[in-house]
Amino acid sequence: METEILKIDKNAPDPAAIERAGRILREGGLVAFPTETVYGLGGNALLADASRKIYAAKGRPSDNPLIVHIADMEHLPPIAAEVPENALKLAGACWPGPLTMIFNKTSLVPDETSGGLPTVAVRMPSHPVAAALIRAAGGYIAAPSANLSGRPSTTKAEHVIRDLSGRIDMIIDGGDADIGLESTIVDFTEDVPVILRPGYYNLAMLSEILGEVRIDPGILDAAEEKGVRPKAPGMRYRHYAPKARLVIVEGEPEKVVSKIQALADAAAQEGKRTGVMASDETAGRYRADDVKDLGSISRDEDIARGLFDALRQFDDDGVEVIYSEAFLTPRMGQAIMNRLLKAAGHEVIYA
Ligand code: AMP
Ligand code: MG
Repeated sequence: METEILKIDKNAPDPAAIERAGRILREGGLVAFPTETVYGLGGNALLADASRKIYAAKGRPSDNPLIVHIADMEHLPPIAAEVPENALKLAGACWPGPLTMIFNKTSLVPDETSGGLPTVAVRMPSHPVAAALIRAAGGYIAAPSANLSGRPSTTKAEHVIRDLSGRIDMIIDGGDADIGLESTIVDFTEDVPVILRPGYYNLAMLSEILGEVRIDPGILDAAEEKGVRPKAPGMRYRHYAPKARLVIVEGEPEKVVSKIQALADAAAQEGKRTGVMASDETAGRYRADDVKDLGSISRDEDIARGLFDALRQFDDDGVEVIYSEAFLTPRMGQAIMNRLLKAAGHEVIYA
């Protein structure tokens, strides 16, 4: 299949271009598009066949449900059977934006879209191209991250082109993603709202809006050893992984620097091409084949934005083993470490 690449200006989306992409979606085709979190691989959420095509293009397991993207509040009731009061409150505070909410679904949502679950995940993105495209597509776009399954999510059009060219109808290049990590997912189908995936909105921010909020015990640090499974199917798979082995080194900052350097030196001795992922504060102190400075820990939004791109660059550089500092920052730390731990297959060394 030939994939058309279409550049659209985020600040002034060309209506004719949006209409062309919208028509592909209305007719059941696939279009990758920018959002403020990561790029999405979109299909018409109400067509079972379009969702099937999404799983096939990504190589995604078909029991891993898709998030349905809407652009207007009036499109929520037709797909969500019950929307509790506090979910409306959260929508008022965070939509459009990097927040996904889970509700019981109506029969309008095909089982293919919800991965066979009786619930549906819904998000209203703030990216102007995404919003315009959703409206042009008829109101509902199912979109997982626009990467091949298992690979780091895509935050730049070039990542999407690399992963999905030849597999989908169109890729819209609308510039780089602002946030760089996927949405926070909050489940509203239980008595108390539960965070199934951390993202731009962290526990403290959600608690301030909602009062009591829980974190899915399946995504906490020791869950795997305790045999507790995450509720979001997608959180159960190895994910975001670079081709290289990735090891996280945690501990007191000075010890982390020495430990990472010792590990990188030992790997280099064995003839391996080495990479280090560090913050601006320490990056200058490492010697390795490829040292990536992800930004200052005082600006952890920068670290979040560049994380997936850094993992992909290590692959392009042919790095075989990457040692990463832990980024346990207060604002984005939960989300960054959630992705990094999954990318590392939970391989952590304490310095
Ligand atoms: P992605 O779109 O690639 O960011 O992945 C979407 C995430 O949302 C995956 O982890 C899914 O398992 C999760 N998800 C989507 N729908 C549901 C649902 N109905 N219940 C629980 N998790 C969901
Ligand atoms: Mg994904």
